[in-house]
Amino acid sequence: MNFIISLIALLFINTPVNSTSPATPTVERTAPNRVEITIEGSDQMKFNLSEIKVKAGDKVVLTLKHTGKLPKTAMGHNWVLLKSGTVVKDFAMEAMKAKDNEYIPEGNDIIAHTDLVGGGEETTVEFTAPGKGEYDFICSFPGHYALMKGKFIVE
Ligand code: ZN
Repeated sequence: MNFIISLIALLFINTPVNSTSPATPTVERTAPNRVEITIEGSDQMKFNLSEIKVKAGDKVVLTLKHTGKLPKTAMGHNWVLLKSGTVVKDFAMEAMKAKDNEYIPEGNDIIAHTDLVGGGEETTVEFTAPGKGEYDFICSFPGHYALMKGKFIVE
């Protein structure tokens, strides 16, 4: 009985209280052609941003923070920006097979990607924003793309 009560208590402790928006902006222009972005991935298999807007040619400095506690093997997250025309579902299928390369498949579909991180870790990638258009970003860890996805909009 005590065990069940502690189990229930544990479940409550592990459920975050509505984490509201962070104090600092998640997309910040720090120079005329430089944008710094912080995106968070959680143990609930979610990104905190579903849309990111930059300008063509911007130098993008994107940091992915894993705000959860689960290890990389169970709840790994990365941030992968796909070229336009890439079919997300097909890409995710290929990514699933690329376990040895942290779910980054061979090929020509990626504009930029971060490393794969586990709970409490963060990683940064720098790249130049592509031409105007709408691009998909996902987490390519198996099964995550259905929830962990968004639009990278270049204006
Ligand atoms: Zn993920």
